[in-house]
Amino acid sequence: MTTDVLIIGGGVIGLSMARELAIDHSVTVVERGRCGGEASSAAAGMLGAQAEAYGDDAFFRLCVDSRKMFPELAASLLEETGIDVGLDRAGTLLLSFSEADISARRERFAWQKAAGFEIEQLSAAEIRREEPFISTDVLGGFYLPADGQIDNRKLVHALQRSCELRGVKFFEETTVDRLAIDNGKVVGVFSGELAFSADKVVLAAGAWGTEINAGFDLPFTIRPMRGQILQFRTAKRLFTHVIVGPRGYIVPRGDGRVLAGATMDDAGFDASVTNEATEHLIESTSEISPSLGSLKIQEAWTGFRPFAPDRMPVFGRVPNAENLLLALGHFRNGILLSPVTAKLIADEVRGIDAVPTEFAPSRFYSAAMGS
Ligand SMILES: Cc1cc2nc3c(=O)[nH]c(=O)nc-3n(C[C@H](O)[C@H](O)[C@H](O)COP(=O)(O)OP(=O)(O)OC[C@H]3O[C@@H](n4cnc5c(N)ncnc54)[C@H](O)[C@@H]3O)c2cc1C
Repeated sequence: MTTDVLIIGGGVIGLSMARELAIDHSVTVVERGRCGGEASSAAAGMLGAQAEAYGDDAFFRLCVDSRKMFPELAASLLEETGIDVGLDRAGTLLLSFSEADISARRERFAWQKAAGFEIEQLSAAEIRREEPFISTDVLGGFYLPADGQIDNRKLVHALQRSCELRGVKFFEETTVDRLAIDNGKVVGVFSGELAFSADKVVLAAGAWGTEINAGFDLPFTIRPMRGQILQFRTAKRLFTHVIVGPRGYIVPRGDGRVLAGATMDDAGFDASVTNEATEHLIESTSEISPSLGSLKIQEAWTGFRPFAPDRMPVFGRVPNAENLLLALGHFRNGILLSPVTAKLIADEVRGIDAVPTEFAPSRFYSAAMGS
């Protein structure tokens, strides 16, 4: 089986790249399970470029660039596939329950205002006017109008449908176990006896990215960071914004579902939903909205965030194999970063140097050589 571009892993990252590259390449996606079935469906779908930022650095700018791409992406997916991916631009509220937290957040976000990003401080009364069902203990908070959310499950579904319409070939339930390298090039990608060959190979296997035998040692490891989420349902939508409290967040979907997330622990690939995490999530949700925390849990699940040693994404070409690219390590922000990753990797495949050095795999090679 020969193709221009072979993508290993059909999560939001693999699918976004496949869709972009299918414009001018034959593309094949090899996916161990069902496309989008891992972290990309487990996520909460927040597009939290500002809420997650601690400084005006390359990562923040990457997140902002990607966030800007969603309105056009959502519109084009709707037109192509008829699927509305639930892009919701109501914004994010950050709640504070103590004066100390308010001033810590004011300090933490001052640079965003200075750099021209929208952020508004709100009083408790203003917050409760916006969101009448949140706790009366709230003392104030901040509003980030540009940090929205998307229904990530609908997004992966629409991306896969769009890929199909653009001629991408899918091999699902197909596990890649090794790459064969010859003379500094990937010459084969194998799933048992099944062999694929491609001009370019992109490894986008999420938290499993460095579990596959690449034919050489990568100088870093991607580790899974487990996250657990609870889902509640209210008869009608009670909340408008993504709401971030001191210990957790809620993400209200248009149909009354409310996701409450998320824990983070380093438990390998143990997919259990634990009692400890459930209790923590009920407490953090009750802190935001006591009535919500007392509802029956409708669903609970686990996902594995792909975590690189320096917490940053790893994308672009690797020195050991000229036709191999990586798109790994999106950690807490892979949904947000999916459109920009697709664009950067597609540029690289087309021979354009696009990936900022901060995110290139070469950073680990220099470190390994001690420079
Ligand atoms: C609880 C939780 C909440 C999150 N919330 C957010 C959020 O609000 N906003 C945000 O932007 N991000 C969020 N994230 C992070 C986001 O989900 C990830 O960064 C993103 O989904 C990573 O996408 P991916 O395609 O790299 O990985 P995945 O979706 O895990 O896809 C990788 C794919 O590779 C396949 N694969 C693995 N090994 C092989 C193999 N050997 N052969 C073939 N295929 C293989 C897997 O089956 C999988 O489908 C959250 C994550 C979690 C767990």
